[in-house]
Amino acid sequence: MAEVLVYVDHVDGAVRKPTLELLTLARRLGEPVALALGSGAEATAGTLGEHGAVRVLTADAPEFADYLVVPKVDALQAAYDAVSPAAVLVPSSAEGKEIAARLAVRIGSGIITDAIDLQAGDEGPVATQSVFAASFTTTSRITHGTPVITVKPNSAAVEPAPAAGTVEPLAVSFSAQATGTKVVSRTPRESTGRPELTEAAIVVSGGRGVNGAENFAVIEALADALGAAVGASRAAVDAGWYPHSHQVGQTGKTVSPQLYIASGISGAIQHRAGMQTSKTIVAINKDAEAPIFDLVDYGIVGDLFNVVPQLTDEVTARKG
Ligand SMILES: Cc1cc2nc3c(=O)[nH]c(=O)nc-3n(C[C@H](O)[C@H](O)[C@H](O)COP(=O)(O)OP(=O)(O)OC[C@H]3O[C@@H](n4cnc5c(N)ncnc54)[C@H](O)[C@@H]3O)c2cc1C
Repeated sequence: MAEVLVYVDHVDGAVRKPTLELLTLARRLGEPVALALGSGAEATAGTLGEHGAVRVLTADAPEFADYLVVPKVDALQAAYDAVSPAAVLVPSSAEGKEIAARLAVRIGSGIITDAIDLQAGDEGPVATQSVFAASFTTTSRITHGTPVITVKPNSAAVEPAPAAGTVEPLAVSFSAQATGTKVVSRTPRESTGRPELTEAAIVVSGGRGVNGAENFAVIEALADALGAAVGASRAAVDAGWYPHSHQVGQTGKTVSPQLYIASGISGAIQHRAGMQTSKTIVAINKDAEAPIFDLVDYGIVGDLFNVVPQLTDEVTARKG
């Protein structure tokens, strides 16, 4: 059976959820072979094996942490040469897309970014994408070289599928470009204790209707009851009510959770571009004519300061 190379996103050996989703998709195409780099790479093997990786290629070197993406591209290319995979799958983070694009150029292959689904096809994997501000859904296939595909978080369910997960050290020699851009400092992001916005299974977002930074506590309370991440419209971010890193939309983050709850958000096309592929969409808006209601699965016409706390109480009560 053909092997499919999966680039692993992990933090000191803790594998991030989008990689486990990639393993689910990779198993549709062939036998997953994972590549884990940097500190804790070998510690990923247990989790990766539980989710279907037959082999886990590992490499650690100071270059992976001390320089930007090129050392990782060198390693991915070394893995590609060693495995000769039927496809290469990479998580669709900003870094993942840069790594994938650089690999595709080096090996002369076509690339598809931001896929939201993958199926095996007679002539290679068929990727589904949501394009033009989520107005169209396309399916495409790479016609040249080994398919390199980046896949968005929340595109597949994480499914355990025990496999050997045999650790195999990978020899990597770094290219002349590898040390071209040095990381000179790192500032850890302040932890909110909430899931990462782009990976969260549930996102609760607030817009201009929230009407003030202090009122975002209402949105955060519902998010915490649901174990969700907090998002915001650009209007809320531009008003300084919530950090820019939480903006959802065309010029913010793209999210595709199982459940997206929009409160006090009108549903402008630029906001929809960042959340329209969410599986279930709920909106709370006091204007029954708000465009957001055109795309929701469930809509509540009402004042968010009345509705959201009731939702929070109900969720909390049912959990108890
Ligand atoms: C190039 C460009 C890029 C952009 N990128 C983005 C982007 O990435 N993300 C983004 O979000 N926007 C983006 N925008 C801005 C976008 O066009 C809208 O202006 C913005 O999304 C509006 O945010 P909003 O829905 O919060 O505010 P509004 O459109 O003002 O809507 C507020 C809504 O809240 C409702 N409301 C008010 N009070 C309450 C209440 N108490 N209870 C319930 N409902 C209430 C109102 O009925 C209204 O529907 C971009 C614009 C441009 C031109």
